[in-house]
Amino acid sequence: MDLTAARLARISPSQTIAISTKARELKAAGKDIISLSAGEPDFDTPDSIKKAAIRAIEAGETKYTDVAGTPALRRAIAERFRADNGLDYTWDEVIVANGGKQIIYNAMVATINPGDEAIIPAPCWVSYPDIVALAEGTPVIVPCSVENGFKLQPAELEAAITPRTKWLLLNSPNNPTGAAYSFEEMRGLCDVLLRHPDVWILTDDIYNKLVYDGFRAPTVVEVEPRLRERIVTMNGVSKAYAMTGWRIGYSAAPVQMTRAMNKLQGQSTSGPGSVSQAAAVEALTGPQDFIGTMVSTYQARRDLVVGMLNEAKGLHCPVPEGAFYVFPSLVGCLGKTSAGGTLIDTDEAFVTALLDEEGVAAVHGSAFMFAGHFRISYATDTASLKEACLRIQRFCAALR
Ligand code: PLP
Repeated sequence: MDLTAARLARISPSQTIAISTKARELKAAGKDIISLSAGEPDFDTPDSIKKAAIRAIEAGETKYTDVAGTPALRRAIAERFRADNGLDYTWDEVIVANGGKQIIYNAMVATINPGDEAIIPAPCWVSYPDIVALAEGTPVIVPCSVENGFKLQPAELEAAITPRTKWLLLNSPNNPTGAAYSFEEMRGLCDVLLRHPDVWILTDDIYNKLVYDGFRAPTVVEVEPRLRERIVTMNGVSKAYAMTGWRIGYSAAPVQMTRAMNKLQGQSTSGPGSVSQAAAVEALTGPQDFIGTMVSTYQARRDLVVGMLNEAKGLHCPVPEGAFYVFPSLVGCLGKTSAGGTLIDTDEAFVTALLDEEGVAAVHGSAFMFAGHFRISYATDTASLKEACLRIQRFCAALR
């Protein structure tokens, strides 16, 4: 008898984790590697947040919490949604999970029946299609063109909706492109959604504080409050507060939806770590100025990376509105051969040769359901970014 269940065959391991692991192994073997493959801030968690965690440990806050999270944290989250987005949610409409990832998992597994469809605009975060597949749903990938700034157009959404559509998974700012919807762009999508009352929307806003040039990334319920009864607004502390390892994500959604997620979480992980929850209360209620400093740094790095990549032969790099990624096209490099003799026939061949020959780890676009591109995370120090971009320029210049 097979060890693994059929459901495991439906999913593949995360390719971003696979590349980051390979880069780490090469580094450990003494190779000079610059890793731009991980989606994680290089900033440390602010001291005030760490201290709150230490205080919680000393105060004995080391026991199980409510499955949905401590009332203090759920209240802090509802308050932050109100302050940041003008959203009106009560604390019992909020649930806390082990990262934003578990919120998505909970929402999909709690609601999808076999054959239900989830519309996923691509490029998309690697985990969406796999989570939907694990829930026995059908991911419906809708490619969004470079010309449209990698953003889903209302007509494309309309065309993708069928009687089986259960979910639309929206992510703004987006991983891997950094593209974010303006109020007007979001308005167009909301008009379509108003016409389809059976479609639920999960909006992944995990990067919504990391936006540049004064851009503001609105969330769906803010743009169209009439959709409130079928929206799960997801966010978390991982990216904006540099807290990836603390594993705290959360959502606001109608009570019936939050209860369904709570039921599932109660029979899987229970509530997230009590100490992490105490730290998250401090993150959400304490001083927020740290974020502004981080955003200015990211913006300067974004400008540096976009400028240098656009000087590389065969690459074209759009300017993203947010997150900490760029997603350049490498179409101009396809069909050529690298200095090390590798035929660059796919985006995966490009990133593999780049890692082998120049020691720069990036992620191929196909991992995000969008071939012909690659993703670079600029959540790393400026000197490394400069050196990595010089290496990429050299790699591209050597293609024949
Ligand atoms: N959503 C997107 C688009 C992400 O890029 C990530 C992390 O990379 C997550 C969700 C998950 O974040 P968390 O660390 O809170 O699970």
